[in-house]
Amino acid sequence: MSLQTTRDVQVLGIDAGGTMTDTFFVDRDGEFAVGKAQTTPKDESHGLLESSSDALSHWGMDLQGAFKTLRTGVYSGTAMLNRVVQRQGLECGLIVNAGMEDFHRMGRAIQSYLGYAYEDRIHLNTHRYDPPLVPRDRTRGVIERVDMMGTVVIPLREETARRAAKELIAKGVAGIVISLLHSYKNPDNERRVRDIVEEEVAAAGANIPVFASADYYPVRKESHRTNTTILEAYAAEPSRQTLAQITEAFHDKGAGFDFRVMATHGGTISRKARELARTIVSGPIGGVIGAKYLGESLGYKNIVCSDIGGTSFDLSLITQGNLVIRNDPDMARLVLSLPLVALDSVGAGAGSFVRLDPYTHAIQLGPDSAGYRVGVCWPESGIETVTISDCHLVLGYINPDNFLGGQVKLDRQRAMDAVRTQVAEPLGLSVEDAAAGVIELMDQDLRDHMKSMISAKGYSPASFTCFSYGGAGPVHCYGYTEGLGFEDVVVPAWAAGFSAFGCAAADFEYRYDKSLDVNVPPDADEAAKAEAAAQLQNAWAELSESVLIEFEANGFDRKDVTLQPAFRMQYRGQLNDLEIDSPIQTAQGARDWERVVDAFNDAYAQVYAASARSQELGYSVTSAIMRGSVDISKPRIPREEIQGETPPAEAYLGTRKFYRKRTWLDARLFHMESLVPGNRIVGPAIIESDATTFVVPDGFETWLDDHRLFHLKEL
Ligand code: AMP
Ligand code: MG
Repeated sequence: MSLQTTRDVQVLGIDAGGTMTDTFFVDRDGEFAVGKAQTTPKDESHGLLESSSDALSHWGMDLQGAFKTLRTGVYSGTAMLNRVVQRQGLECGLIVNAGMEDFHRMGRAIQSYLGYAYEDRIHLNTHRYDPPLVPRDRTRGVIERVDMMGTVVIPLREETARRAAKELIAKGVAGIVISLLHSYKNPDNERRVRDIVEEEVAAAGANIPVFASADYYPVRKESHRTNTTILEAYAAEPSRQTLAQITEAFHDKGAGFDFRVMATHGGTISRKARELARTIVSGPIGGVIGAKYLGESLGYKNIVCSDIGGTSFDLSLITQGNLVIRNDPDMARLVLSLPLVALDSVGAGAGSFVRLDPYTHAIQLGPDSAGYRVGVCWPESGIETVTISDCHLVLGYINPDNFLGGQVKLDRQRAMDAVRTQVAEPLGLSVEDAAAGVIELMDQDLRDHMKSMISAKGYSPASFTCFSYGGAGPVHCYGYTEGLGFEDVVVPAWAAGFSAFGCAAADFEYRYDKSLDVNVPPDADEAAKAEAAAQLQNAWAELSESVLIEFEANGFDRKDVTLQPAFRMQYRGQLNDLEIDSPIQTAQGARDWERVVDAFNDAYAQVYAASARSQELGYSVTSAIMRGSVDISKPRIPREEIQGETPPAEAYLGTRKFYRKRTWLDARLFHMESLVPGNRIVGPAIIESDATTFVVPDGFETWLDDHRLFHLKEL
């Protein structure tokens, strides 16, 4: 029997995570199919094609049948971030100002305690410096100096640049990064050094890419700017190759499009974009964008996004439909200058290792994890240390015969044995109590984290809906939301592919930032205001050009690009700025300056309080921002008829023993895809899908709405 149907498959979203590679296909009518396969780190295209076949099989289609109509594909993955976390990038050279050769490894001193708890930050003896991305012996100084106003105070001594280039080339570096003081303000010397280095590379007959910070990240703070530019050479170059490989694998199967990649600002950029380091975190961003899209479509304004996969727990807040963007975030213990959707990551996922402290016997979770190798329960994994997944199996949370729809067979007995010897016996507990203790501990950790993140922003969970996704989000969502009092807890039926869904729903959007120093006193005259507007406008014009060039390189016409200027502003002398979408497309004259200022005052009153405004200080614009986007087709949110509360008979799969709160109960099992809108299920129940498992314990109930969203409620 041939199932081959003809669908016009148009969009593909990909999340190549540390554990699973998810694919999300959208057809012309906005209908979608989700696929999953284990990630294949050596050659990502294998896992990707596998996952695509899985998704397309739901439509009875094969790769060739679907790929030929695909118009766009968005990739997200964790490989680049892992490369940086593990400091396994390319060996690069760095050129800085003579006398400043150590600033990169000193990392503003901040880097020595990044990621620490407060009590460790305040103790100097815990601080440590990671090996720098570029060590001192591959760093060279050149003589020149530009001051903070952009004035050249020492002209460039070109012979020092030539010598630096020659020495680094002789060392066989894989890339050369140039980052000079205040080059964001006046890039001339830095660009001259770049040209000299390029000449020397050509003269040596070498093929070494050269990256000048002013061409990539023309922003203040040299440690941030230098790190980010180095990542371009150190970590993004290998990703370019991975993406080229994937593209080739897809083209071999008949695809004709080029991939885009989810970027830290929440839009997608071409895989050929110059600034690919902006895609250092992408999968978790995909999830947040998916939640935002769903929220906009269905009217959820305040959302807590929670994503649990095999390796981590990622949290992000959407308030009044807005994402928070951080401008100088840190990532992998590096300060960076990238616009990044604010995310909190905790190193706890379903693959996290569970160990006992050898002295105190306290249970420790992670931070390392088994990744795609699941745990001891997967006989082929070679893993010997208990993971959270092993505990899930012991307690009956997940079905050993349905992992990835049964593609990966798990062995519950192996999990039991490992939990017994490694956790239960040393603690003097039964196997199930040991496993349940581990799960409770993890849930408690996640719950505390969630609570502190929300209250730190001055909110209460009561005004938020919690979206729970990632393969393991639905397994734990009852546990990490219990008692917090969320307005609603939502599990999308496509939770397992939610980040890939977000990638498919993301705008094709470039964003460029440029630091500015525009200072306007409160009593400024018309001329001063007009001059301020002109400075902002010049920066916008420069940034628009960068945006339009990128779109043109991807075959778009300039006139199809929608441009949105924005800026960051603060009251003069204050330390924190706000990012604001400009109410005007271009700024000309004093009136336009006033409109910009009004927009800032309004936003300030919303974020803080009207009485906190400080107009008497005057205003500073700290950066100009330009975003440009083009229209692409997006997935349609499902909409089905509401039916009765009782699940159809074919959705019922029997029962399984399920352990929680010191009791074994019989949980009713359901097949997720067979449930219909309107169905209400009272726990203990477990709803199984090929790539996720929704646990509804005793004391909870769930109902499925007409958009295939499950709502979880405490009874
Ligand atoms: P993710 O990294 O988002 O793909 O999530 C992977 C995790 O989903 C696994 O580590 C499991 O804990 C969880 N999971 C729950 N049910 C399943 C299932 N049926 N197949 C695979 N993974 C599952
Ligand atoms: Mg994930």
